Amino acid sequence: MNPDLVVTVNGRHYRAPRQPLVVVCIDGCEPEYINQAIAAGRAPYFASLRKRGVCLTADCVIPSFTNPNNLSIVTGTTPAVHGICGNYFWDPDARAEVMMNDPKYLRVGTLFAAFADAGAKVAVVTAKDKLRELLGHRLKGICFSSEKADQVTLAANGIENILARVGLPLPSVYSASLSEFIFAAGVELLAHERPDIMYLSTTDYVQHKAAPGIDAANDFYAMMDGYLQRLDAMGAAIVVTADHGMNAKTDAFGRPNVIYLQDSLDAAFGEGSTRVILPITDPYVVHHGALGSFATVYTIGAEAARAAGAHIAALRGVLSVHPRAEAARQFELAPERIGDLVVVAERLSVLGSSASRHDLSGLTVPLRSHGGVSEQQVPLLANRAPRVELPAGRRWRNFDAFDLALNYLQ
Ligand SMILES: [Zn+2]
Repeated sequence: MNPDLVVTVNGRHYRAPRQPLVVVCIDGCEPEYINQAIAAGRAPYFASLRKRGVCLTADCVIPSFTNPNNLSIVTGTTPAVHGICGNYFWDPDARAEVMMNDPKYLRVGTLFAAFADAGAKVAVVTAKDKLRELLGHRLKGICFSSEKADQVTLAANGIENILARVGLPLPSVYSASLSEFIFAAGVELLAHERPDIMYLSTTDYVQHKAAPGIDAANDFYAMMDGYLQRLDAMGAAIVVTADHGMNAKTDAFGRPNVIYLQDSLDAAFGEGSTRVILPITDPYVVHHGALGSFATVYTIGAEAARAAGAHIAALRGVLSVHPRAEAARQFELAPERIGDLVVVAERLSVLGSSASRHDLSGLTVPLRSHGGVSEQQVPLLANRAPRVELPAGRRWRNFDAFDLALNYLQ
């Protein structure tokens, strides 16, 4: 594409990439994962960035869940603007709890669609197919998930025959391989398609199971380290960030600290008087049992909201309760896509609805999860030194990844 072009997306200006740009979103990447992998000698590439690149700590958007943050990163803006405030919400028009993975809920265009329209070659590879449609919305380029890499077609995904080209078997949706496939595909695409902009977004299967420094975690970061090294050697500018962090949500014996909000509210105010929605809920709940540190509650009327809010605020493990307008302001959310109350749990606790609605049998290891402000800090790393000085004191966000890459590093 024309290197002198400036592309404006959602009110922000971006210079055209002067070399292939790869932005990586490592799902659930608490900064400590990289730190521990470096300390164990398993991530020499990450370690090398300290001398020649950028290492910032950025804030993700709240709820610290996958979809709101991936959409923030690829639109360069907040959920208040792009509209994806959770994986799941109560749709008042449909009068149903629905997944927010349909592009009809996305209110703005992505950087990818805008750059592709401006002539850039764009490639997006994500782990789970649930994200693919949102990330690829109106994109004239390559976009597929490793989950459904066997079903990729030129018409739907802008590329074909990807399994054979990558040379790896179709990975299981619950595996580290689902993410490895993304990086292997990234190397293949950079070598043979040479996209101007590539976005690789992994899954947090490993982080939900393994704490920073544990062998399984270090193995995973060593895998990514190797692929990033290869992408770097092929001439890519690389920015690495995360959608959210990850923390243990258990007591000293590894038992989950769960606050069953719906049960508690039903006992206090009667069944049917409130509706607890857990925006972490998605079809892939085995590794977290749909338990995260963020919930939203629908009530009937302002007085009921006040009473429910006071009740919830007194529960042990609850960090904060916010009325709708305040939550929308503080957490940059679209008020009509959240309930009358937003509830955030403390670092070691998660919020559930009713105990009977959570299947915890899939939790084979102590629960690790996210969603709260305790998982807001994420890495923002790059393999290039800044061309212009980075503004002192700036609050960097994970959705500044493309701003950093295109406006400061080249
Ligand atoms: Zn995630």
